[in-house]
Amino acid sequence: MEEKIAGMDLWHLALPVRSRRDHGIGTVEGSCEVVIVRLRSENGTAGYGEASAWSVFTGTPEASLAALDRYIRPLVEGRRVADRAAIMDDASKAVAHCTEAKAALETALLDLTGRITGVPVWALLGGKCRDTIPLSCSIADPDFGKDIDLLHRLRADKVGLIKLKTGFKDHAFDIMRLERIAKDFPGFRVRVDYNQGLSIEDAPAQVRDAAGFKPDFIEQPVRFHHFAMMARLREMIDVPLLADESVFGPEDMVRAAREGICDGVSVKIMKSGGLTSAQTVARIAAANGLSAYGGDMFEAGLAHLAGTHMIAATPEIRLGCEFYQARYFLKEDILETPFQVVDGQVVVPDGPGLGLKPDVGKLDRYAVSKKVAE
Ligand SMILES: [Mg+2]
Repeated sequence: MEEKIAGMDLWHLALPVRSRRDHGIGTVEGSCEVVIVRLRSENGTAGYGEASAWSVFTGTPEASLAALDRYIRPLVEGRRVADRAAIMDDASKAVAHCTEAKAALETALLDLTGRITGVPVWALLGGKCRDTIPLSCSIADPDFGKDIDLLHRLRADKVGLIKLKTGFKDHAFDIMRLERIAKDFPGFRVRVDYNQGLSIEDAPAQVRDAAGFKPDFIEQPVRFHHFAMMARLREMIDVPLLADESVFGPEDMVRAAREGICDGVSVKIMKSGGLTSAQTVARIAAANGLSAYGGDMFEAGLAHLAGTHMIAATPEIRLGCEFYQARYFLKEDILETPFQVVDGQVVVPDGPGLGLKPDVGKLDRYAVSKKVAE
């Protein structure tokens, strides 16, 4: 219990991706950038965490790096590993926003604690409620022909959930893809996510049309601050409306429930600022009779692992997860052994800490900058 944190190492990575992804709020092409933090204990144990920022959604990798390196490092080095709650509280006061950096910090603290004590992160978060999590893969290529190829691959891999990204081109393109998927791929359960792509003028008619395809849910049609329009859309359609960009942390969830803007929420550790805070979001949702889904950002396998442990310990998140990037989007993931998906289900690791860890050779290879003690 007395073991202290000796140091913090950082890598800013640019990870090449296989395809272009278009969303209502922006595009990812070429590479996605993440920041990896490693905390070293005085006895030589290491714990890892990932900050997966997206500038149009949560923030920038540069801000994550600065938050960790300049503002959080002094709060961490020399502290007891066991004082995780105090460290997180200090970090929340020292840096406003930068939720991805705080998620990376808490992940690394939990991984380090788990590796020192020999228990999985899910055990540190309250214990396990599930061994596997249904995987949802997003369909977001502006070239739908490429996504048709992906749909064939997903079907062969027994992935049963897909999320169609809409609102980045035009309504006819969205309806064409919904029709084609319903006709040629009827085995998939479909979710629809506009990522804030619709104007308040267009949203009512376009969302009503999409609801006609009876997806599991429709996510965030309008800008995050349009709470009144979210509430109106929710009343208008007879499929569940999910909030994503409108709800980052617990305080947003309280307001969203009070103002009746959604039937459920996409819970992400990168939005809430950590794993325990994500659990709080899911519990506030459940206490208000709302469902919860395990969302993610453009992540590598390390952040997927953190989200997996969080969902494994959070029974309120019942709609599956979208941790598909490590397997279906990145050209190469950063983990030593692949992030495990079997028959369309993410497998919850049972080893100490996060169970798997990054390959440091890959961190060095994909680093655009790093700050690592020799
Ligand atoms: Mg979303």
